Amino acid sequence: MSEQERFLNFINGRFVPPQGGDYWPVYEPATGHVFAEVAASSRDDVQAACAAAEAAFPAWRDLPSEKRAALLQTIANKIEAHQDDLAQLESQDTGKPVALARSVDIPRAVANFRFFAGAIQHFASECHPTSSDVLNYTLRQPLGVVGCISPWNLPLYLFTWKIAPALAAGNCVVGKPSELTPATATRLAQLCLEAGLPPGVLNIVHGTGTDVGEAICTHPAVRAISFTGGTTTGSRIAAVAAPLFKKLSLELGGKNPVLIFDDCDFETTLATTIRSSFANQGEICLCGSRIFVHDRIYDRFKAEFVARVQQLVVGDPRDVRTDQGALISAQHLAKVRNYLALASAEGGTILCGGDVVTPPGRCAGGWFLTPAVIEGLPDQCRTSQEEIFGPVVSLYRFQTEEDAVQRANATPYGLAAVVWTRSLDRAHRIAAQLHVGIVWVNCWMLRDLRTPFGGVKQSGVGREGGWEALRFFTEPKNVCIKFS
Ligand code: NDP
Repeated sequence: MSEQERFLNFINGRFVPPQGGDYWPVYEPATGHVFAEVAASSRDDVQAACAAAEAAFPAWRDLPSEKRAALLQTIANKIEAHQDDLAQLESQDTGKPVALARSVDIPRAVANFRFFAGAIQHFASECHPTSSDVLNYTLRQPLGVVGCISPWNLPLYLFTWKIAPALAAGNCVVGKPSELTPATATRLAQLCLEAGLPPGVLNIVHGTGTDVGEAICTHPAVRAISFTGGTTTGSRIAAVAAPLFKKLSLELGGKNPVLIFDDCDFETTLATTIRSSFANQGEICLCGSRIFVHDRIYDRFKAEFVARVQQLVVGDPRDVRTDQGALISAQHLAKVRNYLALASAEGGTILCGGDVVTPPGRCAGGWFLTPAVIEGLPDQCRTSQEEIFGPVVSLYRFQTEEDAVQRANATPYGLAAVVWTRSLDRAHRIAAQLHVGIVWVNCWMLRDLRTPFGGVKQSGVGREGGWEALRFFTEPKNVCIKFS
């Protein structure tokens, strides 16, 4: 294996091996083969990264925001210039179709840096003139060292969604990508180096959540943690970080409802629901996994939906004709298949999919599954309630708007919801009643980076995006002046 295929830590502007000298294998999900190895770091590596970040902080904080923004723009340009390489690497690391990485993941990483480079130059703080001789103004100062921990499903997209606002606001970052998908974060570090980001401003420590993630969350220098991942992990992070009084932003799992009314634009609803169900193999926290369809159009929707799902091409992510790539790991594939077995035991009927696929050629050992549609499940069974995070959706029939809203809300999660209707009154009415952080009406995954992003209930605490992110990564300090 060449040195290039060994993903090292990035600390204080240098690529360094883990202090313990250990590595984990990195698998290509589409082939099931190891294609690289990644640093299996420890608390000592986190300590080194935090020390570098602390040392870099004063100069980075004091750099005028215009200069920080210019550096972020340069990083964005470099990602854009390497988008083909990065898309291929992302696809190799995750199993997602390269076409998806090229059209969604990498452009979004560019957009994240560009957006926050612009946003920081317009970010303003409050001023409260209390009376003719008293003035309050609020400083929003960077926190210092912050931790950014991201999952495997949208590796560069989500990692940059955290580090761009953190850096723009003047913080130094210790980041940890998922140990399953370390490739593009490492390449990003190289691009940051070439862009001239000062040493220590961004540090990346690879390794497992228990070894590295938890060491970041409990390190005394780390003032805030921005985390995206599963609800169980989020709960563990909250448990260890709360007694240390760290700021927390937790973007967690979902079991998102899609509500389809009989007055919807049927063709657009159908096409978009295919995407909202199965984009990225269903491994997006925003995918709609519980599809409620009005009784009057249920049978037609079911027939046409299943027919379209069966046409989705599962295969080599490098092939431009592929709609569905591989699942992230053998363990995850087994987990999704267990849910399908559970669905049958819970009274569901699998209308299509759920079969392991063995494509010919280089992908014969990959972790592929045909997209599955289930019907007939009770609302409260485990398959209807728990996050599967794979290419599996369930159909449910509803009679009234009240029934649909009540059932949509009846899970412990509250991330996103999709509503399909031509009635403006109904859209507003339902949007206000849904217990979620994001509602899409007649669309899905339409993102404006200025809008607040996050969930309620077990889908998380806090919001990312726009001013919310810049507020999270700064500490407000009020200054009250009395003058004569
Ligand atoms: P995990 O929660 O398993 O892991 C997320 C990250 O946290 C990984 O980098 C992981 O490291 C790390 N981690 C694990 N344990 C700890 C710990 N004790 N302390 C600190 N860090 C830790 O999630 P997945 O990677 O499996 O991602 C899938 C989940 O992410 C799904 O539930 C999905 O819904 C959610 N998600 C939410 C989004 C949102 O915006 N709300 C967006 C995308 C995904 P490692 O894996 O290397 O051990």
